[in-house]
Amino acid sequence: MSETTELDKTRRYLVPVARLQLPGEPDYVHLSLYEWEPRSQLWLTGLAVCGRSTEQGALPEGTEVTCPNCPLYEDTYRAVLDRESFRVLPDEERSALAALPDQVRVAVRESGLKQKWIADRLHVSEKHLSQLLTGRVVMTPEWAERILALCGMELVVTVRPRVGGAR
Ligand SMILES: [Zn+2]
Repeated sequence: MSETTELDKTRRYLVPVARLQLPGEPDYVHLSLYEWEPRSQLWLTGLAVCGRSTEQGALPEGTEVTCPNCPLYEDTYRAVLDRESFRVLPDEERSALAALPDQVRVAVRESGLKQKWIADRLHVSEKHLSQLLTGRVVMTPEWAERILALCGMELVVTVRPRVGGAR
């Protein structure tokens, strides 16, 4: 892809990739995950989703996938990627803090993680976690941050001019 700068580096994409240039490799265009690799500062492809080895690098967007097997896995991959792209949207109507339990609860649900697993990681009881998520115990930004981190998400705090002027 030439327009790599437009891709979100926190996300993964499905892209067409070339077959490995080895004799015996079927002559197909495959699908592969495309992922930003921070250490090498490159977008990298991996195995084809059908399991075949591929040449590194994405083919131009829109290149037809001719592998008969890759499309069989495409829906599953897309579902996972859609979930990864989930972002908690700021709720303009309510204060950010009041919305925290709701947003964190949604993030937990979307992550597919078990509350028991999260509670164990945070060294709290499952009941305490549940009370945090339902707002019965105050969800501090610290707690939100720790829970969200386990879900692969982060808390974003913004500072902006006060409504009605500076003073
Ligand atoms: Zn394939």
